[in-house]
Order: sequence, then structure tokens, then C-alpha cells
Amino acid sequence: MAAKILIVEDEPAVLEMISFVLDQVGFETLKAKDAREARKQVALALPDLIIMDWMLPGTSGLELTRELKGDPQSSGIPVIVLTARGEEDDKVRGLECGAEDYVIKPFSPRELIARIKVILRRITPHVFEETVEADGLHVDPASRRAHVNGVEVDLGPTEFRLLHFFLTHRNKVYSRSSLLDQVWGTNVFIEERTVDVHIRRLRKALEPHAADGMVQTVRGAGYRFSERSTGT
Ligand code: CA
Repeated sequence: MAAKILIVEDEPAVLEMISFVLDQVGFETLKAKDAREARKQVALALPDLIIMDWMLPGTSGLELTRELKGDPQSSGIPVIVLTARGEEDDKVRGLECGAEDYVIKPFSPRELIARIKVILRRITPHVFEETVEADGLHVDPASRRAHVNGVEVDLGPTEFRLLHFFLTHRNKVYSRSSLLDQVWGTNVFIEERTVDVHIRRLRKALEPHAADGMVQTVRGAGYRFSERSTGT
């Protein structure tokens, strides 16, 4: 599952360079050249991480980071600030405004990617996890594919995340609100019945593979994933 990374940078050459480098290693990239575009991208696409240039026209990267960190909808998105060499005070202020890390310009692509991976491993570990298996069902986060006994399961992105969460958290009952927090993330606000909709879709996708019984309803409590298909 590719992590979505928003790059906020007003210099077109730098923006393209970062975007190219991140594309190469398999990240999905979004671009914004100022705070206005960045706010729009954050609201529409909810990126997994933001690379924020310090010096932007109008609202600075610092102000924008503080603003995003103060909004419950975007406060959970990690931010890496790009700052110019020698601006030691800026680094400190960057971290004070809530950024998770900073990278000094000019930087090597390898360094930037390493920093991104460290933060994503900490905050969105599912992006890097290994294939998990239960009763012939294989879920591979790297290729974002699931198979039952070698046959691919046709899943939407949310159903895939749900299934992966279940396989890595077996035999425990999760309420709708805890599934929302853990699968959808803390930076989205959606109704609890949305969970039911996606559970239905997930079961429907698993049904042709006779694997739908692993996703179990626990009345009055929520849902549980169990290897033994003991029905619902
Ligand atoms: Ca700039």
C-alpha cells in the first residue's frame, strides 16, 4: 500500500525533483506550491505525511505546520520541514511548531527517503509490514493484494486495510469506533455505520473464496477476525 506524501514547495525544480525521487521508490505524491493549495490537498486527500518547505510565499511553512497541527482533522499527519543550511534557530522553531523532523537543504534524495521511512514506520507501520497469512488467506501490504489459496481477492482500498488490520489483530473484538480509529485513522471523521458498509463489502469479496466466515459479528460489541470459520 503506497503511502501518500504531500510536497509543499514553491520552487518548481525542487518540487519536481522530490516528487520524482518519491515516485521512484513507490510513494504516491501530491504537490502544492503554496499554503492555499496545501490546505486543499490535505482536506481532499488526507496524506500520510507532508514535506513542508520553510520558505513559502505568503503563509510560511512554519505557520502552515502550526495551523495543520492545531486542526484535529490534520494534527495526526506527520510533517518534515525543509530548511536552508545554517538556519539553526529555524530547526528549533520547526520542531516547536509540531513538525516531526527537518531536513536541511540541499539534501540528498537518499537522506530524505530515509527520514520519511523512519517516520512512516513509527506512525503508519502497515505501509512496511510483511505478508500475513491465515487459513490459506495471504495479505501482502507491499503489493496491496490478497489471495486465498493462490486466487486473488478483489478488494477496494478500505476493505484491504480492514482485512490487513484483522489479520494482524486476530481473535479480539473491535468496536466500530476503535476500527474507525485504527483502520481509517484518527484524522478522519466518519459515521460508525460506515464500518458496517465496508465489513459487508469485505465479506462479499471473501465469499467466493469461502473465507467470509472469518470476519465475525459479535452482537452489541463489534467485529472479530478468527481463523476458524465458526459463522456469524
Ligand atoms: Ca521555498
